[in-house]
Amino acid sequence: MTAVVESGEFIDEVAIDEAMLAASTKDGARVREILAKARELHGLDMDEVAVLSSVSDPELMAELFAAAREVKEAIYGARLVLFAPLYISNLCNNDCLYCAFRVRNKELKRRALTQEEVRHEVELLVDQGHKRILLVAGESYPKDGGFQYVLDSIKTIYDVKRGNGEIRRVNVNVAPLGVDQFRELKASGIGTFQLFQETYHRATYGAVHVGGKKKDFDWRVTGMHRAMEAGIDDVGIGVLFGLADWRYEILAMLQHIHELERAYGVGPHTISVPRLEPASGSDMASHPPQPVGDVDFRKLVAILRLAVPYTGMILSTRETANLRSETFALGISQISAGSRTNPGGYEEDEEFDAAQFQLGDHRSLDEVIRDISELGFIPSFCTACYRLGRTGMDFMDLAKPGDIKHHCDPNALSTYLEYLLDYGAPETREVGEASIAQKIAEMDPIRRAHTEKMLAQVREGKRDVLC
Ligand code: SAM
Ligand code: SF4
Repeated sequence: MTAVVESGEFIDEVAIDEAMLAASTKDGARVREILAKARELHGLDMDEVAVLSSVSDPELMAELFAAAREVKEAIYGARLVLFAPLYISNLCNNDCLYCAFRVRNKELKRRALTQEEVRHEVELLVDQGHKRILLVAGESYPKDGGFQYVLDSIKTIYDVKRGNGEIRRVNVNVAPLGVDQFRELKASGIGTFQLFQETYHRATYGAVHVGGKKKDFDWRVTGMHRAMEAGIDDVGIGVLFGLADWRYEILAMLQHIHELERAYGVGPHTISVPRLEPASGSDMASHPPQPVGDVDFRKLVAILRLAVPYTGMILSTRETANLRSETFALGISQISAGSRTNPGGYEEDEEFDAAQFQLGDHRSLDEVIRDISELGFIPSFCTACYRLGRTGMDFMDLAKPGDIKHHCDPNALSTYLEYLLDYGAPETREVGEASIAQKIAEMDPIRRAHTEKMLAQVREGKRDVLC
């Protein structure tokens, strides 16, 4: 067993500042050289990312976006994986100034769902067609249960069966744990463990996390080391954009990724890119210290796509429908849809008095699916890699030579067809069937034959056809 890292000194602020300073020249030839390297799909180093983040010339920006679209297309094609967050509790002992769940927010209605309530919320999600859930909770668990509450909830979610429907992958976004508790979490059958650093800038981190265990920057930034030490090899990192300079954040994120690769041989499975949204009881949430505008947001998504081409990127319902559709092509591989951020929100359909933050996209899952299908993307409910044990290094070994596509495309189409047959509104089914037919026609003959076989099985009533 390796000694688990306890200090976040691998986030080297001096090196980041130096890289940003050295990059603030406008050398078109250097930018083009970096974009050409990124197109080879081997990623970029910190200095190169710093150069791209300093680009502002419209022509170079257009080239940067074009390169990101190319890389996204080469690795992920048109697929977009869909999931729903499930907030099981808004109890929290921490005082994060931007979050409605913070302990000092007395305006918030507090609630931890019972297992019966968790089951009911999951039934509603399964009945909409969801197959993946992201379980979310504040950092405080009901008194009698402790962390077992989260483990019980995961079991409850997996136990729900509704006709053809079930949740096939539960990802988890809860406070960082010690190695032993991470082992229990792994044993509960989770997919990805997600944890956002919020900001990698220590001084800002200290200023916005003013109470509770989350104040400890080092405990949080080394959380993924402990998760990986416990055998969780799909981890998801993220930054809450709006707290500190986004350029600094993506360079620091790259340092975190390289550190995980050094220590465990594999980087994160996903990166999330939330932006600060208004939240009840939080002035900061409505007035971000370092707001990230829409152009910079698209730019940072594009740069991350080029820098770590094989790491999935997640966009949530925090963003509006317009911004979301423009950003998908630049590098997003997973999106949430039809979300509620308050415990019990799927039942109650009420948003604000117990919610974590306001949503920018209020459409139902079916509306989002129809929309993204019309935009040319393939909505996917695929969970095959997780179910066949293709995680961590095994996943990357398949992803890096480009072989994962041969699994993803057929799996995306067969899970999309499952959705259309079991849950799709008539007009969505029409749009979806046309889009499936078109995607199949574009495939080479071998993959087409294989995919058609899978789709035929789905039409005959078989579900969860994996490849
Ligand atoms: N309590 C755990 C934690 O803080 O890691 C996990 C759940 S927390 C509800 C999930 C994420 O919500 C946080 O990591 C933070 O990035 C995000 N969040 C909090 N307040 C937000 C806001 N006002 N706008 C957007 N995202 C927010
Ligand atoms: Fe609690 Fe997480 Fe919100 Fe902070 S971000 S107040 S830890 S729920």
